[in-house]
Amino acid sequence: MKKIETIPSSFSAKNNCLKDKFILVTGAGDGIGRVAALTFASHGATVLLLGKTESKLNAVYDEIEKNQWSQPALLPFDLNSSDPEQYKIISKVIAENFGRLDGLLHNAGILGDRSSIESYKPKRWMDTLQINLNAPFLLTQALLPLLKKGGHASIIFTSSGVGRTGRAYWGAYGVSKFAIEGLMETLADELVDTTTIRVNCINPGPTRTTMRAQAYPAENPESLKTPEQLMPTYLYLMSDESVKVTGKSFDAQK
Ligand code: NDP
Repeated sequence: MKKIETIPSSFSAKNNCLKDKFILVTGAGDGIGRVAALTFASHGATVLLLGKTESKLNAVYDEIEKNQWSQPALLPFDLNSSDPEQYKIISKVIAENFGRLDGLLHNAGILGDRSSIESYKPKRWMDTLQINLNAPFLLTQALLPLLKKGGHASIIFTSSGVGRTGRAYWGAYGVSKFAIEGLMETLADELVDTTTIRVNCINPGPTRTTMRAQAYPAENPESLKTPEQLMPTYLYLMSDESVKVTGKSFDAQK
């Protein structure tokens, strides 16, 4: 049985704990990714905002500018692309503008269909695995040279409870999250002896976002944690507090 971690109870993020760090967040326009991007920026990071809907990214950009945090970068991109060349272009743009990367939060995801494996629509299955699993693989592969240039870079993948124990009717979503845990462990083991890059997973747990409302339409959102309440775990894993932590799976809700 996999051991699930939580951050040290004594952890409290210092105001400038991400100062001088360049951190890319996928799905930065909405939900948990939006709040993570704002939180990283408020702790000193320069955030690179990747997402599908440009207007949402622009709104996050404006909020960061309004607060006079470090100027962010916009990377509008559809992770439904399976063309490795497109990911190399992202890497090139970052190399030209920043020269390195200190953090990568793979947060973007889609729910896919809530249906049985027997009736799961194959196209939907492929799209869900593309966005939730293949895109993080392609993006990580393209960005590893830049992450190696960061002093102690942190890669965070986003998991889920249904990625640890199989649950009926979670289909491609659950399968993609099992695979993300596997990708995280494999990559962490490959990098641990030869680089200072650390690789971990966060399971946010039930959180008040559009995706959760889509999965549980009858649920009272007020009963759920907000993305803001999860941020200590994201800050812990992104900051140098966790420099020696790798290959672990964290729950953001205790
Ligand atoms: P939301 O649906 O609120 O946000 C998802 C984000 O992913 C959006 O910013 C969205 O951008 C982006 N995204 C989706 N498809 C694409 C795409 N093709 N290309 C680029 N970006 C894309 O989800 P949450 O904030 O709830 O979820 C964030 C992560 O947390 C996900 O990985 C999810 O699986 C995981 N999680 C969430 C839980 C919860 O209870 N909320 C529980 C467990 C795990 P856009 O809006 O532009 O489409």
